[in-house]
Amino acid sequence: MAAHPAGPEIERLIQLLAKLPGLGPRSARRAALVLLKKREGLLEPLSLAMRDAAAAIRTCEVCGNLDTSSPCQLCRDPRRDPAILCVVEDVADLWALERASVFKGRYHVLGGALSALDGVTPERLNVGSLLARVREGAEEVILAMNATVEGQTTAHYLMDALATYGVKVTRLAHGVPVGGELDYLDEGTLSAAFKARRSL
Ligand SMILES: [Zn+2]
Repeated sequence: MAAHPAGPEIERLIQLLAKLPGLGPRSARRAALVLLKKREGLLEPLSLAMRDAAAAIRTCEVCGNLDTSSPCQLCRDPRRDPAILCVVEDVADLWALERASVFKGRYHVLGGALSALDGVTPERLNVGSLLARVREGAEEVILAMNATVEGQTTAHYLMDALATYGVKVTRLAHGVPVGGELDYLDEGTLSAAFKARRSL
């Protein structure tokens, strides 16, 4: 195999960039080259921003969101209704819903979806903390899982788990295509799916 034409620092940068979603080795090389060429305008500010984010990032102890404080900004916001919980698989879904600005309650991030294949059991998701929050007094739980097999399995599991709590459980309706992940929906579609949520 031919040696890389640049030093080990650059090779390491390329290898790390290649781990980002959407970047294979080829686009990682191109991204690295852009960074190296724009050292003062891009590479140095980016490395500072990354170092600051790495030092400041916290997982919210209440909802599982990523923020620089715990409880996170959303959990501390008095204008958001604590009686309505929207359950999402991942922080990316929370961000997608916030971009659509359709929801004014609180979130709960599961940290994934149930998958027998990948060995993801309920114990490995933030289910216990969700049930505890519902016990503390929630009026509605919105299950905003992705329209994938894992997402729907997770929604069914949570429906059963919540059945004895006497809480209203709803699910996102029309507009979420089968196999669709919330993060990839445009804001209008997501907003429509949210408003047309149905009771279970
Ligand atoms: Zn939070």
